[in-house]
Amino acid sequence: MTSSEHVDLEAFIKGVERRNPGQPEFVQAVHEVAADIFEFIQGKKAYHEYQILRRIAEPDRIISFRVCWEDDKNNIRVQRGWRVQNNNSIGPYKGGIRFHPSVTESVLKFLAFEQTFKNSLTGLPMGGGKGGANFNPKGKSDHEVMRFCQSFMTELYRHVGADIDVPAGDIGVGGREIGYMFGQYKRITNQFTGVLTGKGLEYGGSLIRTEATGYGAVYFLQNMLKAQGNDVAGKTAVISGSGNVATHAAEKIVQLGGKVLTLSDSEGFIHDPDGIDQEKIDWVKLLKTRRRGRMSEYVNEFKGASFTGGGARPWGVKADVALPCATQNELNGADAETLVKNGVIAVSEGANMPTDLAGVKVFKDARILYAPGKAANAGGVAVSGLEMSQNSGRRAWKEDELQGLLLDIMANIHASCLEYGKTGEGKYVDYVRGANIAGFKKVADAMLAYGVV
Ligand code: NDP
Repeated sequence: MTSSEHVDLEAFIKGVERRNPGQPEFVQAVHEVAADIFEFIQGKKAYHEYQILRRIAEPDRIISFRVCWEDDKNNIRVQRGWRVQNNNSIGPYKGGIRFHPSVTESVLKFLAFEQTFKNSLTGLPMGGGKGGANFNPKGKSDHEVMRFCQSFMTELYRHVGADIDVPAGDIGVGGREIGYMFGQYKRITNQFTGVLTGKGLEYGGSLIRTEATGYGAVYFLQNMLKAQGNDVAGKTAVISGSGNVATHAAEKIVQLGGKVLTLSDSEGFIHDPDGIDQEKIDWVKLLKTRRRGRMSEYVNEFKGASFTGGGARPWGVKADVALPCATQNELNGADAETLVKNGVIAVSEGANMPTDLAGVKVFKDARILYAPGKAANAGGVAVSGLEMSQNSGRRAWKEDELQGLLLDIMANIHASCLEYGKTGEGKYVDYVRGANIAGFKKVADAMLAYGVV
């Protein structure tokens, strides 16, 4: 890169910072993408003239609204809800809904921005969006969650639709919450359409949607390893999180012959040197869904395991591969250095932006296999896209058909990353650059076709 191009990138990031004060997650996500895109668009006049990157980094619209609900003690509670519709150049807005006290406009803007590239990578016609509320479903009764979801949808319904914007689940939003929101949408509009994905199988959901993100992250890992003549079988894995993505990533690692050593939640992590096998994974799934318990309870059930509390993360445990599957910025530069020092050969992100910018630099400098979330965790939204197709066609596809499609989609995303991520340095592939450019190109070319809109 020449020095004047470098100044352009810096000026661009400064502009993003100036226009989005107090939104560090959003600025971080744009920063990570912009460096690769700037390099790619050098000499491609139309992308500059039409200000494509500047436009992708400015959401089409952000809807923010009050959500009032009544708790079981008849107290009136007030939360804030959002839907960020980032870009619909290649299909209806699509992206999850997150219910967590840490949700802010910045977090949802970063997620909607990333989602735009991720959805493009799947090859399916889906734009990028994300939504949520600063509501904490933990510790709430089913009826409280129902009242909140109904109130949330009472505003959201005006802004979504099967051909407009199709939300799904994310942190704090699983099958229960999707059911309550779909029920309310149906009641208000008197329409049964595919307005949400991640639905129950009885009312338009797709087989393998629940498993797809975690399985997909392991398929991506398998593709990276295979490209180097290696395999998941026989590898040890550290995994963070214990929710939907983490437990299904663990399950697929075990199915492919690997050994899972850790899982975690926001209170700390468990280390089980004997390996977390299918029976233990099933126990964790029940603990975290139906029993709504804490990972610290694992050590009472399975002897030989230890729990480290105080919000500790598992990155100090020595393993061959790592899958961060909890939340954003859960793996920093020091954690990345520890993993590399301990001989990690591959990292596949099940969560969105779990590695901070310093951590990404450590992985890149160490030339290990590193798959960013927008590529590695795209399996979930891909199967959501297949759920939309099934809803439009008013039919349900068979499990083996869907499993085959998920495998193909993950292999295609891997191939797209290879196409744009090859570095000329032996076998080293920059998967971050590959994912950024491949995801950007399709959206950018559609935007060029539309002119200035
Ligand atoms: P879940 O709500 O099922 O699980 C989240 C897990 O992460 C829990 O173990 C939770 O612990 C932990 N966690 C949440 N917030 C924090 C925090 N601030 N610090 C430490 N741990 C935390 O969510 P999912 O598994 O669905 O999502 C996990 C990640 O994967 C998110 O980044 C999400 O955006 C991403 N993702 C999810 C997809 C999906 O299909 N579900 C699709 C693509 C990406 P605790 O129980 O203590 O809260």
